[in-house]
Amino acid sequence: MSVITRFPPSPTGFMHIGNARTALFNWLYARHTGGKFLVRIEDTDRERYSEEAVQVILNGLKWLELDFDNTPESQFANKDRHIEVAHQLLAEGKAYKCYCTPEELEQMREEARAKGKPVSYDKRWRERTESEAPEGIDPVIRIKAPLEGHALINDSVQGEVKIENDHIDDFVLLRSDGTPTYMLAVVVDDHDMGITHVMRGDDHLNNTFRQNVIYDALGWEQPTYAHLPLIHGPDGKKFSKRHGATGLEEFKSMGYLPEAMRNYLLRLGWSHGDEEIIPTARAVELFDLDGINKAASNFDYDKLESLNAHYIKESDNKRLIELVIPFLKDHHNIELDDIARTRLLKGMDGLKERSKTLVQLAGEAKFYCAAPNGYSDKALKQLTPESVEVLKALNSALQNLDTFTHEEIEQICRTIAKEKVDGKLGKVMMPLRAAITGTDQSPALFEAIEILGKEETHVRIQKTVDFIEKS
Ligand code: GLU
Repeated sequence: MSVITRFPPSPTGFMHIGNARTALFNWLYARHTGGKFLVRIEDTDRERYSEEAVQVILNGLKWLELDFDNTPESQFANKDRHIEVAHQLLAEGKAYKCYCTPEELEQMREEARAKGKPVSYDKRWRERTESEAPEGIDPVIRIKAPLEGHALINDSVQGEVKIENDHIDDFVLLRSDGTPTYMLAVVVDDHDMGITHVMRGDDHLNNTFRQNVIYDALGWEQPTYAHLPLIHGPDGKKFSKRHGATGLEEFKSMGYLPEAMRNYLLRLGWSHGDEEIIPTARAVELFDLDGINKAASNFDYDKLESLNAHYIKESDNKRLIELVIPFLKDHHNIELDDIARTRLLKGMDGLKERSKTLVQLAGEAKFYCAAPNGYSDKALKQLTPESVEVLKALNSALQNLDTFTHEEIEQICRTIAKEKVDGKLGKVMMPLRAAITGTDQSPALFEAIEILGKEETHVRIQKTVDFIEKS
């Protein structure tokens, strides 16, 4: 039997990193087994529904490069089918109409609370007939859950999980307004989509026992389950905003690459020996349910960052330019022109060694795209009256070069250091770096100047000289 997995997010307008990991694991398992990965949008909450919220999820999957094998289904669109199944169960005597009033239900809750028992419906309509139905009450349809014995799940991650059946109440399948509940909709959709493997957060384990009651009542085969332990914050507590970013979109705008995110999310809950760097192709080759960790994992921002640095270094330079463009625009208001693009391509090997995120890369790259429009505090410290002489000497010597190579640029810097500042190369390099980049940091400066070219270098040094002389 060919594997079919699914990702059924509720469109909340936010894609939590835990959801992204669930999607990844389902995708990997489908790709590993040569099966299918299907997406279903659980959009039955019409008050919260919006097209943009659906788009957040689809954009998230697209960014993570998790392709799916269907046109995403809408759970809401399958409503009639869910209703039909509820009525089928009713006709077969496996479900029943319950005419309890809200007051009766409230009373049941209060009694349970008073006795310190879990709140559950007392099954009072299970054996009654419709002839006893009160006037003016629209009934709900409830499943007849087994009254005795126990239920078992052979979970691929958690192992055997057992509960007594009297913990499962006769839960609702159709509400009094005729709308299907989540519990029913999920089972019907998973069955109709041919889902063989349900991999989801272990916060759904209780639901699974209920959903299995529906599978059994319908005589449908239960899927294989894998309940994934939750992701905690770095401190082991519930992962939340207070720890930092938790949404996929946030990580994207912090400059993480999708492949780094995939690698990190994979390792956050799955392992293969002590391999840390697992590119996606290898992940597809290796991924299995046995490797899923049983314990919750703590999110580690530093680890994600170091993986990101790795994938930035590995990345193709042309691709990195495309990826860094929106960051140059958003963080530095720079539109890349052809000249800057050519410089960036030449400088990218030096830049990518130094950047852990695309935000950093944009910060490092911006001097190739535009002359600095100011100087950082540390750069300003280099721009002393003494440095004016050095910069002027550099400018005229550099102007006289016929070919403008980093070897020649270096030679000139050394010569001027000897002539002007007792051979202290730093006293030449630091003002020069400030003039060229506006900062005290840059990739190898001689190479960078070669890439910028004679004209641009001249303009920047001159501008800096003017600035010092004016201030
Ligand atoms: N819509 C549910 C959620 O986002 C899906 C649960 C499931 O995988 O069945 O949590």
